[in-house]
Amino acid sequence: MEAHADPLAAIVGVLALQGDFAEHEAALRLQGLRTRQVRMRMDLDGIAAIALPGGESTTMLKLLDVEGLWDPLGSALRSGIPVLATCAGMILLAETVENPSQRSYGLLPITVVRNGYGRQFHSGTFALASETLPAGTTGTFIRAPRITRIGADCKVLARRDRDPVLVQQGSVLAACFHPELEADHAVMRLFAAMVRRSRSQVGVASNFGMTTG
Ligand code: GLN
Repeated sequence: MEAHADPLAAIVGVLALQGDFAEHEAALRLQGLRTRQVRMRMDLDGIAAIALPGGESTTMLKLLDVEGLWDPLGSALRSGIPVLATCAGMILLAETVENPSQRSYGLLPITVVRNGYGRQFHSGTFALASETLPAGTTGTFIRAPRITRIGADCKVLARRDRDPVLVQQGSVLAACFHPELEADHAVMRLFAAMVRRSRSQVGVASNFGMTTG
C-alpha cells in the first residue's frame, strides 16, 4: 500500500543515479515524509534532508561526475541538513575508503572497508545490539562495508557483534545495513524524527528573525 505523505511535509532528496533509491523513497514516505529523486543539480533546491541509498559506490561516483553533481551534492551534504546514508551511501561519506581506496566526501570520520563482510555469499540479516533501537531490531547486510575506525565525535548507535554498524555524527546518520528493505524499520523512524526536529528548528529561527526584524 502506498503511503500518502502530508503535502506540507519536508521533502527528502533521494540520490537516484543508481541503487535502491525506490526502496528508500517508499520507506521514507511510510514515515510521512515527501521524497524527490535527485538526478541533477536543480533537484537539490529546497530539500530539507538527503538520503544516499545503497548500491554500488564506484558506479555512483562515476555517475555523479557524468551528471555534474559531485560539487552541488557536496554543498548540500555540508549544509547541515539531515543526511541518511546506507551502505554505498555510507561509503560516499566516509573519510577513508579501503578495498580499494576511492574518492569520498569525507564528512564522516570513519574508515570503511568495502565488502568488509565478504561478498554476496555472506549477505544476510543479523541481530543488532543497540541502546537506541528497540530490542530485537535486525539489519540486512548486502556486500556491506565494514567500519574499522571511528572518530571520537562519531556516536555508535548499533553494533553487529563488536563492529559499529549504525553511526551518527551531528545531522548525519549512516548504516552499513539496509533499513529501507524492511517496512517501518526503527532507523527510518529515527531519521524521520531528525528531519522533523531540524525542520522545526529552522521554523523557530525564521520566526524569530521575522519578529525581531
Ligand atoms: N559493495 C557496495 C560498494 O562497495 C555496497 C553494497 C551496498 O550498497 N549494498 O559500493
